[in-house]
Amino acid sequence: MISRRRFIKGCISTIIAISSSQFLLQAPTSSGAGNRKIPVLVYHRVGYTTDALTVTPERFSNDLDSLQERGYCSISLEQFQNFLDDRNVEMPERPILITFDDGYLDNFEHAYPILRKHGMVGSFFVITDMLWTQDRLTPENIVEMSQGGMSFGSHTVTHRDLGSLDAESIRDELVNSKAVLESVLGKTVNGIAYPRGSYNDVVVNIAKEVGYVTGLTVREGICIKESPDFELRRIPIFKYDSGIIHVIANRGHM
Ligand SMILES: [Zn+2]
Repeated sequence: MISRRRFIKGCISTIIAISSSQFLLQAPTSSGAGNRKIPVLVYHRVGYTTDALTVTPERFSNDLDSLQERGYCSISLEQFQNFLDDRNVEMPERPILITFDDGYLDNFEHAYPILRKHGMVGSFFVITDMLWTQDRLTPENIVEMSQGGMSFGSHTVTHRDLGSLDAESIRDELVNSKAVLESVLGKTVNGIAYPRGSYNDVVVNIAKEVGYVTGLTVREGICIKESPDFELRRIPIFKYDSGIIHVIANRGHM
């Protein structure tokens, strides 16, 4: 358990990162920041559906309470990328990246307000062909969440397994999803979460070539500065999990 004062101090860098990316680039690296181990959580739905990848809003709120009690401070996707890229970046003592795959509407209706209430940020990976369909985020939701400090990345256009596609189809999935999100957000999108964790060397090479800097898998593990930028491990979160700190300890191995 850490003191409230220390917790607030640790989180100030996150607030700076949200409020001014210009300042972020000029800020000095806090001592030892390069040695941080960063858990990257992956949630899907936050609501009341019954599948294994849905957590209730109450459970999600409890997870965030537990993280804060343990001194974890959420960081933005940009802050995470700067850390991996060895750029000067302020980093809280216990950083955590909270990601969401598939772009469900409940991310806006439930996860976003709960994150805001906790003063935390999340990173949302969106399937762009689903943007205008029922139960998924709309472009308006995305703009509002971005203005509220949330980060966005690609989860491709159609959610096909990238590792099983030919090069031309991979390129279409990566380029077109990036372009749609960039036109919605009015800023660069350079993170990709591979659908169902499917990728190979061809996928990674094309992702680099078309301007991505980060590729997130669904392989269990924790991230350090030396982690390969396009094979980053995450900690999947399921309905049946109990105790987020326990889950991080179990699945957040090196
Ligand atoms: Zn997915």
